[in-house]
Amino acid sequence: MTTSSYRYSTLAVHAGQHPDPLTGAVNVPVYLSSTFQLTGIGTDRGWDYSRAGNPTRDRLEEALAVLEGGHSAHAFTTGMAAISALVAMLRAGDHLICSKDVYAGTVRLLDQIVSGYGIAIEYVDTSNLAAVEAAIRPNTKLIHIETPSNPLMVLTDIAAVSRIAHAHGIEVSVDNTFLSPVLQSPLALGADIVMHSTTKYLNGHSDGLGGALIGSKPEHKERFLLVQKAAGGVLSPFECFLVLRGIKTLPLRIKQHEENGRAVADFLSTHPKVSKLAYPGLKSHPQYDLAVQQQKGFGSMMSFEVESQAAAGRFLAAIKIFLSAESLGGVESLGYHYPCVSHRGAARIHGHYAGAHPALHWHRGQGRPHRRPRPGAGGGLSRLQCPTDRAAFFFGRRIRNGSGISSAVTATIIQITST
Ligand code: PLP
Repeated sequence: MTTSSYRYSTLAVHAGQHPDPLTGAVNVPVYLSSTFQLTGIGTDRGWDYSRAGNPTRDRLEEALAVLEGGHSAHAFTTGMAAISALVAMLRAGDHLICSKDVYAGTVRLLDQIVSGYGIAIEYVDTSNLAAVEAAIRPNTKLIHIETPSNPLMVLTDIAAVSRIAHAHGIEVSVDNTFLSPVLQSPLALGADIVMHSTTKYLNGHSDGLGGALIGSKPEHKERFLLVQKAAGGVLSPFECFLVLRGIKTLPLRIKQHEENGRAVADFLSTHPKVSKLAYPGLKSHPQYDLAVQQQKGFGSMMSFEVESQAAAGRFLAAIKIFLSAESLGGVESLGYHYPCVSHRGAARIHGHYAGAHPALHWHRGQGRPHRRPRPGAGGGLSRLQCPTDRAAFFFGRRIRNGSGISSAVTATIIQITST
């Protein structure tokens, strides 16, 4: 039986994770070796130097390629390093189209670093197919989409954008961080490359950073191997091990995320102090039909609005157990005011979000990086991550009783916004 015939949850335990041939260890060993003994002049056992290849990293990359249905996978030090490796394939004079609503760090990288290499960056509302088509230029080489988007949960039709792109000879990459390979398969929908911040759901325990690119064609393997070897931002063997360990429980954790996400969304959707709620699993989400069509579930990320930053502050202050910290996809309860954390230190990117959502445009100026936000800035946009038991604690009896939330440890992430 090959792993391709396994059910997904079995695949998560076994893909790339065969027993160690030397010792029979059931867990992939952490090969903490920078270099490997050669067998002769120009010959080796498959590895020579860990920047070019490491046995633990190989196993993680094999697992990721299988889970995303790709040809090959490549692990990098962070999600941002993976996006850097992705855009390293572009050349001066090329044009890159990127989703307008996208993780703030991606905007920082593209605007403050990549554009300096002579690559033209254009942000487009990729949920609007006509806008995507209209933005294409003769020198467009890549369309990078994030769906669902961080922070506003905007969806992009992966299959439709891929059809448009391919008709023009353009590749499509998808940041699949918010859903994980369990809930969305961009390559099966027609995309060319998948990108992950493994820091989030894939690791799942908030104990390591990481990123990955999964390519669909042999040329992607060649290209991303070159970036790993030449630029060097490879994931350490120990962090590869942590992601491999996280992947084993990924389908189970995602199942619980999903259940919690639904319960929290149902609760918030009727709360009088919540003026807007964006959760793709609700029929009120303008792209609910697309979510049903291209996703295998709705995940546990959602955005909602309360009246003001002060209201968000009260909300966050009232939470017990939650830590004030950013990120998502792990097992802890985390909460924070989104614009003042994710956008802090990125003052120059705030103009990017103008018009998308007033709460995201809390700082209009060319302020110094790492400047602290003004009081009241950012409205009530905040983000929380809550494991089930704590979500129940936070949201009260109504959720606990109404949804059967258990004490299993897994997270729901919500974002609070206000205009
Ligand atoms: N992509 C998305 C959607 C994210 O939310 C993040 C981080 O929050 C990243 C990429 C960057 O990942 P990392 O923090 O691992 O560099």
